[in-house]
Amino acid sequence: MQRLKEKIEQEGQVLSDVVLKVDSFLNHQIDPLLMKEVGEEFANRYSDVVITKVLTIESSGIAPATFLGLTLGAPVVFARKRKSLTLTDNLYTSKVHSFTKNETNEISVSNKFLSADDNVIIIDDFLANGEALKGLVDIANQAGATIVGAGIVIEKGFQEGGKILREQGLRIESLANIKSLANGKVEFFD
Ligand code: 5GP
Repeated sequence: MQRLKEKIEQEGQVLSDVVLKVDSFLNHQIDPLLMKEVGEEFANRYSDVVITKVLTIESSGIAPATFLGLTLGAPVVFARKRKSLTLTDNLYTSKVHSFTKNETNEISVSNKFLSADDNVIIIDDFLANGEALKGLVDIANQAGATIVGAGIVIEKGFQEGGKILREQGLRIESLANIKSLANGKVEFFD
């Protein structure tokens, strides 16, 4: 997605050879016009399948997931990272190790919002080692839902997550795929 790549080139900050900061449009401040295009692009790429639910993880997956949900007219459910006093229903849970925070969270989704009747697309902001995506796949599988695939705003293709999950048969559509962050420079796969 050209506009996304340009935005990354203009505003992304390369923090190290493995971490990209995009807090001006995705991870802190949100660019709603860009996120609207992101949602529409995911919907286009998955126009061959029926989607009844969009599943993501708080907090940075929520914006792209919501714009996809708006385009599809489908509800969006996000996995919570912290236990909540109000989240007392029966839960699907999974453990996710965070690449950027270097901590393991138990993520959870109420069984009220995900069921075997759902055709689910999983959305996240970044794909690195695939931990977040694996946790969300686990949760959708616990619900008995059908997973149509995943949509990633920025994949770091030099890390292993995308390769491992695609080899396991998961369809993954990423809108920008980064080949390298070496020497402070963002280089994309074509
Ligand atoms: P994974 O679980 O695939 O290892 O990492 C994906 C998760 O870690 C995403 O949900 C995202 O929040 C975070 N993440 C991974 N790499 C980056 C990065 O380079 N920049 C930012 N801002 N977040 C990242």
